[in-house]
Amino acid sequence: MHTRPRAATAALLTCLLLTACGGGGGDGGNTASAATTTTAGATGTTTTTGTATGSTSSASGTAANTGTTATTATTTTTTSVDATKLPLGDNKFTTTAPAVGYVYACYSAGQGGATTKGPWFNGDGSTWNSTSKISVQGVVNWVSTFAVALGSTLGITGNGLPSQPTGTFPIASTDPAYAYDRNPNSIKTSAIAWGLPANPTVAATPSCTGLGAIGVLLDGARLFNADDGGYRDAVAWEVQDACQGHPQQQGTYHYHSVSSCLTQKDTAGQHSPLVGYIADGFGLYGNLGENGKALTNADLDVCHGHTHAITVNGVSVVQYHYHQTKEFPYTVGCFRGTPATIS
Ligand SMILES: [Zn+2]
Ligand SMILES: [Zn+2]
Repeated sequence: MHTRPRAATAALLTCLLLTACGGGGGDGGNTASAATTTTAGATGTTTTTGTATGSTSSASGTAANTGTTATTATTTTTTSVDATKLPLGDNKFTTTAPAVGYVYACYSAGQGGATTKGPWFNGDGSTWNSTSKISVQGVVNWVSTFAVALGSTLGITGNGLPSQPTGTFPIASTDPAYAYDRNPNSIKTSAIAWGLPANPTVAATPSCTGLGAIGVLLDGARLFNADDGGYRDAVAWEVQDACQGHPQQQGTYHYHSVSSCLTQKDTAGQHSPLVGYIADGFGLYGNLGENGKALTNADLDVCHGHTHAITVNGVSVVQYHYHQTKEFPYTVGCFRGTPATIS
C-alpha cells in the first residue's frame, strides 16, 4: 500500500529508486528487494507443454500471451457467475470458523503487493471484470521437473517451476502492469519434496490455510490460497502473467487460482479432470462437476469441495475432492482433510 505522508519525500524517493516498496509482488507482506533487469538463466530453455508458441513475443498489456489453447476451456462452460462482475473477495477471510465463499486463514492480515486498483475493477466498488484484466508481459520458458508417486505417502517432487511459460519478472517499468503491481521478484527454483496423505480422509473439523503453498498444480508450480497477504482478493488485485502466476519474495512462482494454461482441459458434459493436489492429499479438479455442471460456491462446502464417485489413480471411488470456481475463493477455502506440512 502506498499511502504517502507529506513529509516522506525521502522515503518516496527510496521507493522509486528501488522500483518497488511496500511489498510489491506479494503475498504475506513481501519485503521488496531492489529490482534488477536481468533475466539470466530464465531464457533459452524449452518446455514440453507446447503452449508457448512464438515464445519470444512480447505482447501488449492484454492477455494476448495466454496461448492458443488456453482460453477455450473457460469459454465452453456455462455458469451463472458473470465473469465481468465477479464479487470482489476483499475481506472475505475468517479466522474463527470456515464459511462458504470465504478463506479460512491461520494468520492475520498483512500487506498485499498491488499498489493501485486497475480499470478492471468495476465502479460499483464490489465487483471486478475478469475479462478485462491485464497480464504481465513476456513469455519465458523454463525446464520444469515434476513427479507424483503413490506409495506410503502421495509423494510430490519437483523444482517448483511451471512446465508452461511465465511472464517477465520483475515486472518491467515499461510493462503496463507496472502501474498497478510492481512485483520486484525474480522467479527461482523452489524444490518440492512433499509426502501427502496417500489415503486422505475427511477430518472431524476443517483446518485453516496459511500464506504460502496449499498445494500444487499439475504443471509443477505451487498453488496458494486467494489472499494477496492483506486479506484482499489476490486474483483481482495482483497483476499476474498470462497463465495467472507470479513469484513471491523468495522467487517461488505460484498461482492463486487454477491456471488457464494447464493441459488438463474440461470436456463439455463431463466432470473436470484432476488439475492439482492439495496438502491434505485430496485432489483439486476444474470447474465442472458431475455431468458437466459448472459449479459455483453454492454447490460446494465451506472448504470448496464435495463428495461423489470420482476416478482416483485409475479406480472409481466415492471420495471428497475440491473444485475450481470462477468466483472467490476460486480454489480451496480450508482443508477438509488433515494437511501435511508443505512449503
Ligand atoms: Zn501471489
Ligand atoms: Zn466433483
